[in-house]
Amino acid sequence: MNVELVHVTPDAIGHIARCARISHRSEGTGPEADADLVRRLIRWGHLSVLEFAQATFVVEGLSRACANQLTRHRLASFVQESQRYVDVRDRPLVTPRSIADSNSKQAVERLYDEAVALYERLVAEGVPKEDARYVLPIGASTALAMCVNFREARHIIALRGSGHAQWEIRDLARGMLKLLKEQAAAVFEDLEVSE
Ligand SMILES: Cc1cc2nc3c(=O)[nH]c(=O)nc-3n(C[C@H](O)[C@H](O)[C@H](O)COP(=O)(O)OP(=O)(O)OC[C@H]3O[C@@H](n4cnc5c(N)ncnc54)[C@H](O)[C@@H]3O)c2cc1C
Repeated sequence: MNVELVHVTPDAIGHIARCARISHRSEGTGPEADADLVRRLIRWGHLSVLEFAQATFVVEGLSRACANQLTRHRLASFVQESQRYVDVRDRPLVTPRSIADSNSKQAVERLYDEAVALYERLVAEGVPKEDARYVLPIGASTALAMCVNFREARHIIALRGSGHAQWEIRDLARGMLKLLKEQAAAVFEDLEVSE
């Protein structure tokens, strides 16, 4: 899976701090003071001001199973590759390590190859892609764009980065967190993703 941050609010910490200061009509003294203010807001649970900053990610090579989990997050906005309109025969299967290490790895690969071959045959017979896709498994990879504000990004990373979440969406949360820490450490530095 590849997680790319394609857009983020410029000077996100400065922007959040500037908006937060409206409440007390206070003046900022620079980036350090802005970061300290943002850390205090998070400690106090004053999280709504984090909604003033946004990030857009493009994620390639995640399974449809993982995409189904991610798109449950209602405050994020998504565009996902369409299996109705895009020819998806060359999308690789996302293989969990537990399957890759199992005695059934080759059987799984055969099954996927057969599913893709059947998909191709159906399309060649004139079956629309939107119907032919029904034979493809949930492990088939997909791509999506996700736009999310910083408050919701923290929520997604906390839920999906916990040890209770599945490995693939944890990998995604880890990728998001790494990129967001580089852009806005004061907002994301207290979060961690379980191994
Ligand atoms: C480990 C794990 C296992 C899961 N297993 C299952 C499962 O077996 N079956 C299943 O169906 N789902 C499952 N889920 C998905 C889960 O139930 C949520 O749908 C998903 O995590 C989105 O969470 P959310 O609603 O908090 O977040 P978001 O949709 O991202 O919303 C963020 C926050 O906004 C607020 N909010 C959003 N919409 C509303 C609203 N309409 N009204 C009031 N407040 C709102 C809430 O405070 C919410 O926490 C699982 C999630 C996790 C992390």
